[in-house]
Amino acid sequence: MNLYSLAKKFGTEEAALLHLIKMRWPNGVRCLACDHDKVYLIETKGKTGKVARLFECADCGLHFSATTNTLFHDSHLPLTKWFAAISLMVDGKKGISASQLGRHIGMTYKTAWHVCHRIREAMQEPKSFKIGGESVTVEIDETFVGGRKRGVGVKAGRDAKTIVIGMAERSGRIHLKTVKSRLAKDMKPVIDDKLRSTTKEVVTDALRTYQYVIPKEKHNRTSHKEELNDKNWTSTQTVENAFSLFKRGIIGNYHQLSREHLDRYLGEFCWRYNRRKMQPWLFEMTLTNMLNKKPLPYKDLTF
Ligand SMILES: [Zn+2]
Repeated sequence: MNLYSLAKKFGTEEAALLHLIKMRWPNGVRCLACDHDKVYLIETKGKTGKVARLFECADCGLHFSATTNTLFHDSHLPLTKWFAAISLMVDGKKGISASQLGRHIGMTYKTAWHVCHRIREAMQEPKSFKIGGESVTVEIDETFVGGRKRGVGVKAGRDAKTIVIGMAERSGRIHLKTVKSRLAKDMKPVIDDKLRSTTKEVVTDALRTYQYVIPKEKHNRTSHKEELNDKNWTSTQTVENAFSLFKRGIIGNYHQLSREHLDRYLGEFCWRYNRRKMQPWLFEMTLTNMLNKKPLPYKDLTF
């Protein structure tokens, strides 16, 4: 949903709140503690003097709101700003940085940073997500991300970078994840976890590791140099394109990413990429996940 339609549909706190309540409790509000179906809507004044609209359970007396125990938990930001932030984050395939988001919506960098991370948490594939299948060819490749150091030589320069393994279904979905090294002990767990065992063909470059990790009968190993034909197409083109799209996003929007958070950014990128044909529904999908996932406090994000 673009910002214009968003403002028309959820222009007020009231409208945004009603939408969240309907999404969270389609069959009527129930108490979060005792599941009682009789709750009162009450208005209280918080420490800041702002009026908060809460539910009070008729049975156990619990006070809770539409955002209690969700990714919105404990946020003082108006829902209209949250909705705008979600809309900006799901739009555009390269994402948006916290400083850009803060400027667009009007919030401090620190608030925007935390907001971005919470929305990003809602934009991650589920643990059960897998790549490949019976009639699917999967490409696997690795790349180096971030940390350019000048004047330290190629080897030291590479050591400052993070290795990312990429798995891509040809013209399908992708999975990108950081790995400690390109050795089998670090690459194998990722491939075993995400590659569907029924996959008939796996294409990789000539890196030795893949020989130890991928069953021979399905492994198609090519060298980038040999393969490059006059159309500039290699057999691992899908995954290479995903890498370069991610990197262009980083350079254009984020400038630098901390290594600790790189997997979250990769997850956000893949989630959006894997839903590139579902653009009109991304806003509601993210909103649903915001409500279904547990809170992500600031202290859990800073080390
Ligand atoms: Zn109750």
